Amino acid sequence: FSLIQRVTGFVSGLVCVLHDITEQQKNEREQQQFVSNVSHELRTPLTSLRAYVEALNDGAWKDENIAPQFLNVIQDETERMIRMINDLLSLSRMDRGVAKMDLEWVNFNDFVNHILNRFDMIVKTDAEKADSKTKKYTIKREFTNQALWVEIDTDKMMQVIDNIMNNAIKYSPDGGVITVRLLQSNNHIILSISDQGLGIPRKDLNKIFDRFYRVDKARSRKQGGTGLGLAISKEIVEAHKGKIWADSAEGKGSTFYISLPYEPMSEEGDNWDEV
Ligand code: ADP
Repeated sequence: FSLIQRVTGFVSGLVCVLHDITEQQKNEREQQQFVSNVSHELRTPLTSLRAYVEALNDGAWKDENIAPQFLNVIQDETERMIRMINDLLSLSRMDRGVAKMDLEWVNFNDFVNHILNRFDMIVKTDAEKADSKTKKYTIKREFTNQALWVEIDTDKMMQVIDNIMNNAIKYSPDGGVITVRLLQSNNHIILSISDQGLGIPRKDLNKIFDRFYRVDKARSRKQGGTGLGLAISKEIVEAHKGKIWADSAEGKGSTFYISLPYEPMSEEGDNWDEV
């Protein structure tokens, strides 16, 4: 600070240089923090795997009641680690800018409907099973009648909607209603997904899009979460020049919003005349 004061008046460029250095230091610090987070996130499941394998090795394998339980935990945690590594690899591809965008024009109403039908099917077929332990939920749709055509990477956008829907289900009470709204506003389309779950504290609303940030770490882990889903969703939405954000009333539920740029097309096909 004093350095800037002494030179004020004749070197304004220096302020800029100092700014660059702090920016670089910030990036380095973030990088170090990220490596430390990844190591910690992987060490936790590996330590628990080691404990279960040790117990099995010490004789628990002979116990017909305990062994299958331990093996289940080992399988779940291994699968979660694989999910985490895959998530990290897709983030890394996006960071390096090598994740190719496969854009195509789609009717967004049909696209979202198709995804929601899949979630309806899951809960329906599951309820028919006698030993169903999966959570029940109902999906309510409030869509504009207007067909909204947008250019998106369907695989990637499906990953985003899947992610938010899975979270809505995961953090909802049994039998909760999930309301999905689709509307147009000026030059944007807005998709919102609201649940009746436990909500998100105000101070965490922005942070949940950061890598590995969870409001309740233990709970997320127990439900097989990696803490990377929303970070990936954010990268994907931003690659579409869109925005993603959340709003919540604690104890009542959360709403996740995605907005994407949209150009209304005139019916007479004026767009072609302009070319
Ligand atoms: P996770 O694998 O932990 O679900 P995400 O990146 O998908 O990771 O979400 C980050 C955190 O945001 C979650 O751990 C949870 O604390 C919070 N969160 C996300 N969606 C919801 C929701 N619908 N209701 C309440 N909390 C949520």
